[in-house]
Amino acid sequence: MAEKLGVYICGGCDLGKSLDVDALVDFTKKSKLAGICAVVKKNAVLCSPDAVAEIEADIKESGLDGVVLCACSPRAKWDIFRFGAATQVERVNLREQCVWSFDKDAKIPGLLDLMAKDYIKMGIMKLSKSRIPTPETPETNQAILVLGGGFTGLNAALEAARMGRDVVLVEKAAELGGKAAGMLKTFPMSHPYTKAEDTGVAGLIAEVTSNAKIKVLTSAELTSIEGAPGLYTVTVNAGGEQVFEIGAVDLATGWAPGDASYLAPMGYGKYKNVVTTAEFEAMAKAGKIVRPSDGKAPASVAFITDVSLCTKGAEPSSLDVCAPVEPLPDKAPEGEPEVVAYPPLESAKHLAYSSELTSLVALKQAGYVRESCSEALAFVLYDHMMVPGINERYYKAAQDDAGIMLSKATITGVTEDVDGGLIIAAKDTLLGADVEIKADLVVLPTAIVPVTAHQATTNLVYRQGPGFPDLELFDGFVDSNYICFPYETRRTGVYAAGCVRQPMTLANAKEDAAGAVLKAIQCISSANRGVAVHPRSGDLSYPVFNFQRCTQCKRCTEECPFGALDDDEKGTPKPNPTRCRRCGTCMGACPERVISFDNYNVDQIGSMIKEVTVPDDMVAGGPRVIVLACENDAYPALDMAAFRGKSWSPFVRFVPVRCLGSVNAIWVADAVSKGVDGVIMLGCKYGADYQCHFVKGSELCSRRKTNIAESLGRLGVEAERVEQYEVSIDEYDKVPALIERFMTEVITKFGPNPFKGY
Ligand code: SF4
Ligand code: SF4
Repeated sequence: MAEKLGVYICGGCDLGKSLDVDALVDFTKKSKLAGICAVVKKNAVLCSPDAVAEIEADIKESGLDGVVLCACSPRAKWDIFRFGAATQVERVNLREQCVWSFDKDAKIPGLLDLMAKDYIKMGIMKLSKSRIPTPETPETNQAILVLGGGFTGLNAALEAARMGRDVVLVEKAAELGGKAAGMLKTFPMSHPYTKAEDTGVAGLIAEVTSNAKIKVLTSAELTSIEGAPGLYTVTVNAGGEQVFEIGAVDLATGWAPGDASYLAPMGYGKYKNVVTTAEFEAMAKAGKIVRPSDGKAPASVAFITDVSLCTKGAEPSSLDVCAPVEPLPDKAPEGEPEVVAYPPLESAKHLAYSSELTSLVALKQAGYVRESCSEALAFVLYDHMMVPGINERYYKAAQDDAGIMLSKATITGVTEDVDGGLIIAAKDTLLGADVEIKADLVVLPTAIVPVTAHQATTNLVYRQGPGFPDLELFDGFVDSNYICFPYETRRTGVYAAGCVRQPMTLANAKEDAAGAVLKAIQCISSANRGVAVHPRSGDLSYPVFNFQRCTQCKRCTEECPFGALDDDEKGTPKPNPTRCRRCGTCMGACPERVISFDNYNVDQIGSMIKEVTVPDDMVAGGPRVIVLACENDAYPALDMAAFRGKSWSPFVRFVPVRCLGSVNAIWVADAVSKGVDGVIMLGCKYGADYQCHFVKGSELCSRRKTNIAESLGRLGVEAERVEQYEVSIDEYDKVPALIERFMTEVITKFGPNPFKGY
């Protein structure tokens, strides 16, 4: 615990003008926590070089082991306020969340100074309950396992080898190259970005197989990945069992064509001359673009990028699905490629995500038609032509080809002509009229389904199972946060790249491969130093369990979003620190409160809440509301709102939490029993549009809220006094209205907490 603190109160950035800084210094010196505050000072501008030098001198001369800096948000000037590994720093946010956001119309005098006093007390209390963590620093394996020998996997293996790593490359098929090996060409990857190019996969294979640092295993099955990041033991069966000591894993297992029965309204499966882009590519690669019905070269080919043909009268959209899909078996028949079945909506979502690819594939394959015969015509009929960035040049090149007709079109029907050709009926075209186009061949998009679902891709020996949880919620893709953390999966140490992560071009897959390798290396290095790799990069803390009080209820084990906890032989949680992301979800889950972090724990946050002054008389002193604000999005959103001059009720007190998943019900119970009138849990969105940095934290919190509500009900306190709101970082302008809503709809409506004054 920090035992000798320095407390510094800043007078800059409006603080000195709005607050009585001298009175705050006096207050701190006389407070019940004054005994551990060896130095209490004010400074005109705390972030000035002189002030920082003064703090450094105090640390040295007075032997301070912690400093409480009452100034701006911890998100500001963090690089200035660093005083070495032995000195803990607590930032009390008097600027953004006190002075700048103070509602100037507040009627009760002295409210602002009262708020500042609360926050100073809370900051001192927090630091007094905080220890510097001593991390475990295991010797880590340095080698990288690359799963998948396609374009992405080959690039990943080469990148890792170039960075001096030993690599084990495991490929299920007999040959390297994956889907790229089956392509005739790919989209432009170099100047002038107007022509399709060779994929370069043959050269990649040659480079990989001749690289001494890369061990290539083909016709290989991954048997298991056991252990934790930095410490994996990987068993592979490649004509015999082989065991490798691995640091981290790059997952480059690519994609499989999705179930195509949803293409039925476009004639797929009914008319022989309706094929998918995957089938067309195979014909092109074989040098034989022909009509399946008669083996003749087509004189005209229509490419349709939007397959949302619906029943008559219905308005189609790119997300609609018109045909029911029968689920396919989990395993493909012997000798046939793996095909993954999704229910109808999921199939359609895949198309929505791959729209850029759908457009580019149509342009590329229209080019094949033109190259195969100068007289042949290609029609590209699209709902949305998506060619972001430099690919606009590729689109323009197609426009300049007189043999390629491009038009926006809503397809209303595909029927067969007597000669086996197809008649495509379309409306909303650029021609301004409904049209019918005759083509010898119709080509429809192929759904890209990541190779993760229904397949033992990772075979992790984890208590929570061998693969990735919640794949259906994420359309089968394995990223743990699309927006903020590309490459990261819901298993620390496993980094996804290429089409297993999201549909992408080969050019993007090459970049992805490098990104995922860097993440893998960062992970190994972080595991070795005992720090979190992401998203709390560099965090030294990890959950510590007081097993004597553990009832083996397994809530922590089951709720950990990252499968960090296994069971030991007695059924007690078995932590794997290098798998852990330090979210605190286990701490929030544990009913016995036996899980804590040295610098973030149940007692610490509970004690902070107890430092909030709650007036006995709500009319004279106003209500009090505790806002448990997630540090990832909610807390910065509050800062940003304050920065932009927004203000809110002066009766709220913010308590930052690592994730709403870490909120332990006891904090809410303690707050309510202390007389606090309401509690807001302000965190990330969950569900399909989740942006929770720890995937499930805010969702788990909302489930626990139901239990909290029941407990409050038993105490005779209205359940509505505890509410959870969702906010993302860019929704800062909504924060004042959310708080206002709570104050009017809950606090004004229900009045004072019945526990007030006890
Ligand atoms: S819930 Fe979070 S803090 Fe707890 S073990 Fe899992 S990853 Fe680590
Ligand atoms: S939630 Fe707490 S009591 Fe239950 S198994 Fe985990 S540590 Fe033990």
